[in-house]
Amino acid sequence: MIMARIPDKIKVYCRKCQTHTEGKVKQEKGGRRSGGLNWSHRRQKHRRRGHGNLGRYSKRPVTQTKMASKTSKKIDLRVTCPECGKIAVINRPRAKRYEVFRKI
Ligand SMILES: [Zn+2]
Repeated sequence: MIMARIPDKIKVYCRKCQTHTEGKVKQEKGGRRSGGLNWSHRRQKHRRRGHGNLGRYSKRPVTQTKMASKTSKKIDLRVTCPECGKIAVINRPRAKRYEVFRKI
């Protein structure tokens, strides 16, 4: 899917109210990655030294770009219940771009 259009109001089941309510859709932004490594990661990094392909005459090394080969993304969509304020996470298929449009 290249582009997905989502209405800004979706009717979802609220677990607290136990009924379907029409809530507002919000796209959650991703969290920040922590900078450093903790002690177990550092030790594991040291143990892995000498393993894995580093690129030779016939092969190229496995790079970070090759591992993340997918071009589409899944987004984190959350719908808040207007009555109790409970947030529900909804699943959407992969798409290159998402657009939240206003429902008339
Ligand atoms: Zn509710």
